[in-house]
Amino acid sequence: MKDCIFCKIANKEIPAKVIFEDDICMAYLDINPLHSGHTLIIPKNHFTDLDDINEETVAHIIMIAKKIKKLLEEKIGAKGIKLVQNNGTLQEVKHYHMHVIPDCKVKDIPLDEVYKLLTK
Ligand code: AMP
Ligand code: ZN
Repeated sequence: MKDCIFCKIANKEIPAKVIFEDDICMAYLDINPLHSGHTLIIPKNHFTDLDDINEETVAHIIMIAKKIKKLLEEKIGAKGIKLVQNNGTLQEVKHYHMHVIPDCKVKDIPLDEVYKLLTK
């Protein structure tokens, strides 16, 4: 969708620190992480929110969230992982995305360093 920042990331028109992608979705580091390793998983096609997205795609994204959880545990030592998906007034970017947020024990690792740890 035109003027959607996450569509632009999916189309590689603007850069992101991508840690996983397949035909359906992409996972990249949040630019303003709550804790180090904070990752967003988006469908490559534009869906607005939980009402809009189809069951097949949302099921796939949950499956990828399991993979990202394991990656954050193994590579940066996360011991707790929170999944968050905002809708309506709570949602800033209107392209469906799942936040995968590690615990605060892995707080202050710089974004570039997290990216290296998660992609090596
Ligand atoms: P939400 O309130 O669920 O819509 O959250 C939007 C999230 O997208 C926030 O955590 C932002 O930090 C993140 N975000 C916005 N722009 C970018 C970007 N260009 N690359 C990575 N994360 C972004
Ligand atoms: Zn979009």
